[in-house]
Parts: sequence; structure tokens; C-alpha cells
Amino acid sequence: MSEEVRAIKHMAFAVRDARAALESYQRFLGVPEDTEIHEYQGSRNRVALFDLGGVEYQLCESMDPDGRFATWINEHGEGLHHICYEVEDIDAALEHAVKSGAALRECKACKITGSHPHPEGFVAFLDNDAAGIEIEFMQVYTPEELKEYESVKGI
Ligand SMILES: [Zn+2]
Repeated sequence: MSEEVRAIKHMAFAVRDARAALESYQRFLGVPEDTEIHEYQGSRNRVALFDLGGVEYQLCESMDPDGRFATWINEHGEGLHHICYEVEDIDAALEHAVKSGAALRECKACKITGSHPHPEGFVAFLDNDAAGIEIEFMQVYTPEELKEYESVKGI
């Protein structure tokens, strides 16, 4: 079945201070000392990115008080914000979800609803949480699709 989840692509946590949150993972869980914090001007997020137990973690801090993660923290407190599930065919996954009663949620960074290109693949968000956690799907680019994305973006 093409809508099946293949793997967890990443887990994203909403945090007030990405560096402080990262320090806990470094101190208690052996995350490397040279882990970098990335600043994304497009989405206005500061993100500590690392691999732990075969899953990518993203500790996400909004750079603005009304940012996506800051707003979420005001409502829920810090914690797991969304899980990104890797699927083979994002269109099939979305069709299956919508048929099952899901709605799509706008990507806050791109202002696009439904499948659209991100740096690693095509992504989409559901407007339906699972156990309070937002659902993101990603169809990871083939090497050819990645080349095309990078040539369009000029990176
Ligand atoms: Zn997007």
C-alpha cells in the first residue's frame, strides 16, 4: 500500500530556547558537542538538529514571539510538536487521509496547503492531530528530484 508509513523522518519539539534544550540532550543522551543550531530566516526558526537512535530530532525555537512554535508553547507548553512520517507516495497518503476524514493544514513557513516542495522532499500537514501531535508527511526526493529542487532554489 503506497500510503503506508515507511519510517519516522523527524520529530519536532517546540522549545523556548533551542540551545538550552540541546544541552540537555548533550548532557544526558550523548548528543555530540559540535551539534549546530541552524537559523532559518524564511520560517524564522532557530533549530537544533541531530540524530538520536536513528531518528532526526529538531528542537525548534521561534525567533519571533508570535512565531509558529512560540504560539504553540503559549497554548500547550514546551514539548513534542509534530512527527514527520516518511511515505512512499505523498499524494496517495493524503488521498487516504482525506478519505478517512482528515483535512489539510497550511504550511506556516510556505503558506501552502497540501503537498509542496521542502529542502528534503515533498511535505504536507494534516489539520488533524494524533494524540495531540501534529502529523506531517514527507515523500523524500529521489536524487533527480533533489537536483531539480536545488537548481530551482539556486543552492
Ligand atoms: Zn512548507
